[in-house]
Amino acid sequence: MRAHHVCVVDTLSRATAVIVNTCTVIAKTEREMLRIFRDVTKQGKKLYITGCMPAVERDEILKVCNPAFITSDEIHSLHAQIEQSCVFAQGRFRNNAVAIVQIAHGCLGTCQYCVTRLARGPLVSVPMHQICSEISFAVSHGAVEIQLTAQDMSAYGMDKTGQSELANLLHAITAIAGDFRVRVGMMNPKTLHPVAKEVAAAFSHKKIFSFAHIPIQGGTDHLLAAMDRGYTVSTFLDMIHLFEQTVPDLLIGTDVIVGFPGETESDIDALLFLLQTIKPYRLNVTRYSPRKGTPAYHMYDMPDRFKKERSRRIVSAFHALRSECNKLLIGKEFEVYITEKRKEGSVMARTDSYHAIVIQSDEMEKEMSSSPLSCGDHRRVKITGERVHYLIGNVCSGKDRC
Ligand code: SF4
Repeated sequence: MRAHHVCVVDTLSRATAVIVNTCTVIAKTEREMLRIFRDVTKQGKKLYITGCMPAVERDEILKVCNPAFITSDEIHSLHAQIEQSCVFAQGRFRNNAVAIVQIAHGCLGTCQYCVTRLARGPLVSVPMHQICSEISFAVSHGAVEIQLTAQDMSAYGMDKTGQSELANLLHAITAIAGDFRVRVGMMNPKTLHPVAKEVAAAFSHKKIFSFAHIPIQGGTDHLLAAMDRGYTVSTFLDMIHLFEQTVPDLLIGTDVIVGFPGETESDIDALLFLLQTIKPYRLNVTRYSPRKGTPAYHMYDMPDRFKKERSRRIVSAFHALRSECNKLLIGKEFEVYITEKRKEGSVMARTDSYHAIVIQSDEMEKEMSSSPLSCGDHRRVKITGERVHYLIGNVCSGKDRC
């Protein structure tokens, strides 16, 4: 596939061709993908499909449309051909100053429920020099936040050397010149455990946000064993403590699966207790759905009503926890780094710990007759309000230091 005179448009009606990068991690996402394919086909657009779905659900796709399938290599070469607008050579820009850089694809996991590993295949790490040159390129084109992604960050390099090279990669990235911050993506406890000390030490660098995304998935050892996650609750907690001791003001993100076969009410109680212990800043809750081709597909799947009720309990406990933690921050001041312009006259700023702070920039600029806030600016802000997923802050003026 070659791109001649291509430009990226922002609505389906203006497009002549549509590329859908698919995900198939849970049944709900897959249904949403199929709905998009039907919509695009109904509107007579040329449809190209890439990502995980063609690898594991090609027949389901062909039932609703007749697309062209493209591989991720073809997508990368297509990106390189498209004149830089919202897409740059190999990585991607989200909004105007956040660049997403993939460091590996595939993983070494054997998680019993996971269809992603069937779709993505074994771990393939991107060479370190290539990642560093993508980041240098993004920074020189205005990126101030680099989001590193992979199915499992801490497995980085294990396909080449047999051991995790994540700490070395982070050292190489922090040596790149420029004012930017790095958000490290998800690190699987199984591959993180042997290198946790080195990785936590690398997180202490000013250029790395003090935010560690370490998915627990289940709250008890018997569920983790049934999922074949390869660690125990106490291994997970040891790593969290190690990170907390090494990285100042660390925030934790974690993921949980609710309704995995064999889960009981006491597993949920244990999970709630675990969440109270680690007080995550971010929590992704996924209701388990059996995926064809995985070992767990053949296990007993509990009725949806149990999964719904359990996930509601977990989400509401998390919201209460978040609100309690956020309220303690009202009136406090932080040095922040502005990373995104938002649509409604506001900007997103991040603390060193990756706390999201929304600043109503248009009001502030009017009141203080100051110059507009731009991505990459450093400011001092006072927290004036909170929502579950972000804080609200005002910039402190020079004369009125708050
Ligand atoms: S680590 Fe487990 S859950 Fe993550 S992509 Fe690999 S197999 Fe799936």
